[in-house]
Amino acid sequence: MLIFLLIISCCLLATFICIQVPKWNYNKHKQFVLLHSISLKELKLLNNEYHFYDASTQYIQCTYDNEHSFADISCQDYLIYQLQYEQRKIKQQMIAIDKNRIDYEKYKNELSNLTQCGTYSTSYDKLNLEKLIKIEKAFLQQEIKQPTTNFSIAVCLYYSTINGSIYDRKSQVFNKNEVNNLIERVNHKNGTFFTDNEIWNAICRVERGKVSNKMRFSLYQRDGYRCLKCGISQEYANLEIDHIVPIAKGGKSTYNNLQTLCHRCNVAKGDSIANYLNHH
Ligand SMILES: [Zn+2]
Repeated sequence: MLIFLLIISCCLLATFICIQVPKWNYNKHKQFVLLHSISLKELKLLNNEYHFYDASTQYIQCTYDNEHSFADISCQDYLIYQLQYEQRKIKQQMIAIDKNRIDYEKYKNELSNLTQCGTYSTSYDKLNLEKLIKIEKAFLQQEIKQPTTNFSIAVCLYYSTINGSIYDRKSQVFNKNEVNNLIERVNHKNGTFFTDNEIWNAICRVERGKVSNKMRFSLYQRDGYRCLKCGISQEYANLEIDHIVPIAKGGKSTYNNLQTLCHRCNVAKGDSIANYLNHH
């Protein structure tokens, strides 16, 4: 019995030593590298000289509670719409990332001039040089800065119900050239109108999509579930949400610019606006 216990405890001790000794060994090497590596010290000094703009991919996202809006609006449409308001911020990011790229080239150049691994400010006596270099390289890898050097925007659109579960999603990434191209097209305006039809249509689709189901129901409620033109109630007609100032004339999807109409009044209004636009 006693012998049995002795064997067990010997085994435990052996396992303990097998696990702990390499650890102690590693820590000794690690301490030495941290204290005496020349390249690590040089890298830290170099890092103090370089400050990169901290930017990963820009994300723009939107959630639709209306299946048709989600299907109707592409990621590019949504980006075009946002570029009307966000282009100044986006251009600043582009400039910052361009500067990152230039600085990063210089930084990489200076990295190649660092003292080689394995050069230490004191002798490494009983320590293993190979192990030291391996640890040193890992530390250098951790410290080397890796800034963003390419601009991109990711647009993500979601389709979700009011309770929040997501049914569908789509996303697209745009690079600097693509975004610049869209900015240029968005800025091509004749007064308040966009000269580029594709741009104009994209903006109209997104504007229309801003009337969410949630908004629609609260508008019906506000207007007493009846057409504001002819007064017919929802039991007798299909109600729709109408833009008082039409989107085609620069109207926005805000509560003040929206009203409940029956389908017939809405179509009649649409025809008179089409006539108006054709004759002006
Ligand atoms: Zn009506």
